[in-house]
Amino acid sequence: MRYWLLWVMLAASLSAWPSAADADRDSRITTVALPQAPLVVRVYDAGPRPPSMVQRALREAAQIVREGSIEVIWEPCARSNPARCDRPLPSTELALRLVSMPVNASYRGTLPLGNSLIAPGVQHGTLATVYVDRVEWLAAQSGADIAVLLGRTVAHEIGHLLIGTNHHATGGLMRARWSREELQRNNPADWRFTADDGVEMRRGMLARSGQDTPDALVWNRPSRPTRDGDERAAY
Ligand SMILES: [Zn+2]
Repeated sequence: MRYWLLWVMLAASLSAWPSAADADRDSRITTVALPQAPLVVRVYDAGPRPPSMVQRALREAAQIVREGSIEVIWEPCARSNPARCDRPLPSTELALRLVSMPVNASYRGTLPLGNSLIAPGVQHGTLATVYVDRVEWLAAQSGADIAVLLGRTVAHEIGHLLIGTNHHATGGLMRARWSREELQRNNPADWRFTADDGVEMRRGMLARSGQDTPDALVWNRPSRPTRDGDERAAY
C-alpha cells in the first residue's frame, strides 16, 4: 500500500510540471473532434435525499465532465416525468441510478462506491449505479464534502460508460482506489480526468452519435491496466 501511495504521489508531482512533450500533446488534443451534441443522462434517484445536495453533486459532476469537452444535460426521471423517461434509451443517452446501500458507519474497509454495466466485447455501457450511502460513509470518515464526493463518483462512472470499459487508470479520477488520505489532501489532479481519458470519452461520444472518429484522433490511446469490475473503493 505504501508503494502504491508513493507511486500516486510521484505521478501527481510529475503532472504538475508538464514537459514540452506534454504541452505538444495538449495542443494536439484540442484538435480532436468535439461532440456536436450534449450528453443526456437520465437520473433515477431512489432517495429520499436533500434535493440541494443532489443538485450540487450533479453540478460538480457536470463540471468535471465538461473539462473533457463534453457537456452534460441531467434529465430528472422521477415519477413526474414518465413521458420523457419511459421511452427507450437512445444510444446517445445514459442512465444513472442513485441508490441506497446502507453501511455500518464504523466500517473501515474497502467498498465500491458505484459500478457501471459495460457490455462485454462491444465496449458499450449505458447504466451506472452509485451507492449514495457509501459516499456519505466515506465522506464522513474523510471529512469530505458529500456533494463534491458524490459528484466525483458520478463523473467516474460516466467516464466508464463513455470510455466503454471497467478498467482503471493509474492516476486521475479514473484510478481504481480513492483513499481517505487522498480525499483529505484534495489534490486537484486526483479528481480530474486525464488528457487520455478525455480523448477516450470524446471518442466514445462520437461513436454513440454515429460521427466518424479518424484513427489520427486516437494517437494517444492509452494502454490501461486490466482490471475486471469496478473495484474503486476507499481504504
Ligand atoms: Zn471505476
